[in-house]
Amino acid sequence: MAFICKQREKYYLAQRIKKNSKWINKIIRRATPAEIKAYQSTRGLATDLAPVTCAYPECDKVVLIPRTQKRKFMTTYPLRYNRLVQVYCSQECQDNHGKLLEKITNNANTGTETSCEGGEGMYRSL
Ligand SMILES: [Zn+2]
Repeated sequence: MAFICKQREKYYLAQRIKKNSKWINKIIRRATPAEIKAYQSTRGLATDLAPVTCAYPECDKVVLIPRTQKRKFMTTYPLRYNRLVQVYCSQECQDNHGKLLEKITNNANTGTETSCEGGEGMYRSL
């Protein structure tokens, strides 16, 4: 697959090929202005990342998410669904946080198991 690469301030259309069992960028031709523009705009989006700290309280790792995504998480989602979206650095942290929340919730509602009968115990508040 061809892609744009930058060399000595000039843009080229290149292809990744295998030569002597090593991958090298083979330049096909100079990139057209349209191709350069497309390349620059995608690069711009890719670098517009927002650092977010992992939501698991025991973890302080920073996750980079696209700015557009963070915007949605902090605006559209809470407004539309009335909840904040938690960002985790890994599946493990998400699971751990889930377990932790469950434990706290269970402790808070000691004795009241969630059931579908009656008015009591139908809600689980965090
Ligand atoms: Zn984490």
